[in-house]
Amino acid sequence: MKYISTRGNAPVLNFEEVMLTGLADDGGLYVPETLPTYSKEEIASWSKLSYPDLAYKIIEPFVADSIPADDLKSIIDDSYSDFRHNAIAPLVQLDRDEWVLELFHGPTLAFKDFALQMLGRLLDYVLERRHQKVVIMGATSGDTGSAAIEGCRRCSNIDIFILHPHQRVSDVQRKQMTTVKADNIHNLAVKGNFDDCQQMVKDSFGDKSFLPSDRKLVAVNSINWARIMAQIVYYFYAALALGGPHRPVSFSVPTGNFGDIFAGYLAKKMGLPIDQLIIATNTNDVLHRLMAKNVYSKHELVHTLSPSMDIMNSSNFERVLFDFYDQDGEAIADLMTRFKTQDITLDDKVIAKAREVFDSYSVDDEVTVQTIAEIYEDNEYLLDPHSAVGVKAGRECRRNPDIPMITLSTAHPAKFPEAVLKAGQKEEPILPHHMADLFEREERYEVMPKELSAVQDFIKNNLSA
Ligand SMILES: *Cc1c(COP(=O)(O)O)cnc(C)c1O
Repeated sequence: MKYISTRGNAPVLNFEEVMLTGLADDGGLYVPETLPTYSKEEIASWSKLSYPDLAYKIIEPFVADSIPADDLKSIIDDSYSDFRHNAIAPLVQLDRDEWVLELFHGPTLAFKDFALQMLGRLLDYVLERRHQKVVIMGATSGDTGSAAIEGCRRCSNIDIFILHPHQRVSDVQRKQMTTVKADNIHNLAVKGNFDDCQQMVKDSFGDKSFLPSDRKLVAVNSINWARIMAQIVYYFYAALALGGPHRPVSFSVPTGNFGDIFAGYLAKKMGLPIDQLIIATNTNDVLHRLMAKNVYSKHELVHTLSPSMDIMNSSNFERVLFDFYDQDGEAIADLMTRFKTQDITLDDKVIAKAREVFDSYSVDDEVTVQTIAEIYEDNEYLLDPHSAVGVKAGRECRRNPDIPMITLSTAHPAKFPEAVLKAGQKEEPILPHHMADLFEREERYEVMPKELSAVQDFIKNNLSA
């Protein structure tokens, strides 16, 4: 499989190179040049597969020229071995033809484990073969950091440095990051906000001279193609469990950076009959406004009860635009350059295509809390705030009550006690058994000033030999 940049002006790479690269040289994002497509009969023949076996079927064509089949198989099996549910991604019913796909049974209780458990292992595998070591640097407001740390804790060729804003992430999220004991894991609590952390990471990718020349800097946010790839799998898995591909299904996807729903778009292009794909956003609704008004505009960041979707700019949207513009990299480069200084409007043909594939809906905090309360009252089932945004958007946008509507449930409610208490629960939701002692575990992190040079010095001085 060959990978090309959405801005049409960077080297064509194979899977291994793409995984190690992050942003393309031209500022674009890497996407596969073509997608494998499957007939209904082929997809139906996968209906009895376990989650890891299905993952193998779907992922193999994307990585075939980089990783031999047997090795890939064992990497995938290993990636899902720490999930605490036999089904890996179980479906829970809310109502007639209304379902929730629980994606929070991985080690950090959020859907990011699906991709990051695999990404850490894939990276370590290719690095071992190349006799190379890399540095992962990332900024987090919560979920990404802990999932990346869990994904890399046993990787001997990766040193990982995660920056979080000091005293501004939730206790559960901080503890999940800082109680993982491994020499290659470093948590830096920066005396600043999330944007300060992210800026330091951006600046470090922009000028890597603080690192020894033999250490690459690798990104683990969703610009990394491998993350999107891993997320395609559960769309197939859920559809197959509910009578697909002989029956279409719809998905409602709580999204901020457009990563998760882009994976659903790819599943559809690969042949999975998906009726509706719903972009569910909180008050940070740049995508919903684009769909409704055909204006793509920046706005001020709003802090909501669903913080993992609090973003200003939906970076993966560029990937789907590239497709809608028939892989015209020049057009995308032009669009993105203009977006730096002004609002943009898409060509009529393009916005029409987007509206054909996607529906969208924006849910504010008040309605999020109402939805958590309502579903609890009706079903005694507790949603986390991100998933509640999804369920509400699914209900509002649904066109055909006979087609199953599946909301991706992206986190366990115990990760977001504030929203759950606001929805009328008397007590904080209980952490799953394997995390019951989280608050007794010993923490380890470094408090850092908001200074790029201090952070970079720390990294330089803490690289493994
Ligand atoms: C990261 C995250 C999201 C948003 O994912 P996208 O990549 O922006 O689609 C939604 N919910 C939770 C709990 C998350 O951690």
